[in-house]
Amino acid sequence: MSHKQFIPPKRTLMGPGPSDVSVRVLHAMARPTIGHLDPQFIMLMDEIKGLLQYAFKTNNALTLPVSAPGSAGMETCFVNLVEPGEKVIVCVNGVFGKRMVENVERCGAIPVIVQDEWGAAVSVDKVEVALKENPDAAVLAFVHAETSTGVISDAEALAALARNKNCLTLVDAVTSLGGVELDVDGWGIDAIYSGTQKCLSAAPGISPVSFSEKAVQKIQKRKFPVQSWFMDLNLVMGYWGSNAKRAYHHTAPVNALYGFHESLLVLKEEGLDAAWTRHNYHHEALKVGLEALGLELTVDEACRAPQLNAVRVPEGVDEAAVRTYLLNTFNLEIGAGLGALAGKVWRIGLMGQSACRENVVLCLEALDSALNNQGYPHKAGAGVAAAESFYEQ
Ligand SMILES: *Cc1c(COP(=O)(O)O)cnc(C)c1O
Repeated sequence: MSHKQFIPPKRTLMGPGPSDVSVRVLHAMARPTIGHLDPQFIMLMDEIKGLLQYAFKTNNALTLPVSAPGSAGMETCFVNLVEPGEKVIVCVNGVFGKRMVENVERCGAIPVIVQDEWGAAVSVDKVEVALKENPDAAVLAFVHAETSTGVISDAEALAALARNKNCLTLVDAVTSLGGVELDVDGWGIDAIYSGTQKCLSAAPGISPVSFSEKAVQKIQKRKFPVQSWFMDLNLVMGYWGSNAKRAYHHTAPVNALYGFHESLLVLKEEGLDAAWTRHNYHHEALKVGLEALGLELTVDEACRAPQLNAVRVPEGVDEAAVRTYLLNTFNLEIGAGLGALAGKVWRIGLMGQSACRENVVLCLEALDSALNNQGYPHKAGAGVAAAESFYEQ
């Protein structure tokens, strides 16, 4: 067998992540590798922390990118904040909430599950009851934007409830950061993790996290050592901490961080509010186009995530065949349903750089063609026309 270079095809990424990575970010990653303790690299680390504080809207000193994907950010939050035997209220309304429960169990803690339907937001009322019934709960954990269903939950209201009960808040912001309003300090969130490959449009493999002063105090007062060596923040801070000697802990993914830094610069240049507005704007265009094609969004308008659109697969249409057709004919990736929604929905991402007019129009054109290919009756051309007229308003 002969081996050769891998040249990836040029895709348009409109799934649940990764999203399109701009040439600007790709070029940043191609710059020369330097040492992870090089004084110039240390300067870049400080820059990244500052930009992350901007993105999260926080002054938390303990704000840094974990050298691993979003799932590692999730695990970093749980293993540091949660001790064996503690009670953690976990809200489950999709795949990622379920993963939170597994994290709690693996910490040797006791999950108190607040269950909501897949496709519904986390019920603020149910959480209020759970907090009342479990005054000893140490942490309330929930997913801000549930990527498996396309639902936004009211993180501000949930965090406020927890704060009143002296319970720490742990939030999954992997899909929400950069795409919808998020205010870590304003809302009083204590531990939060995100990803680079969703609304920040950097390459996958890094997970920004941030911890409040209260969370840091809890971590410092732990009775049991953090069971993960790699994720133990007490050790990581020897490398990433502000007053640290910057001693070796692990080798940071130097070039990936160049790219991540560039993506944060892009966000800062655009402005957080403008980025949130852009995601919503293109979501509106996609929505009118999908509806004109006779397709239906599954999530209630009140809690719809603009950056992740769950679309009902019409009766008689082969869900997987449509995705394969889009990939092969249009070089366009959209997502399949996850878990309980497998086979029932497509997930169309409008994340980061992918939230743009060209992508919306391409996606509607490609879906139109795919429905035609499936022999599904619809008004040909109506989707693109509706979106174009939305944009021309
Ligand atoms: C993608 C995602 C994750 C996991 O991130 P990875 O980078 O794939 O590990 C966690 N939570 C949510 C809500 C996500 O969308």
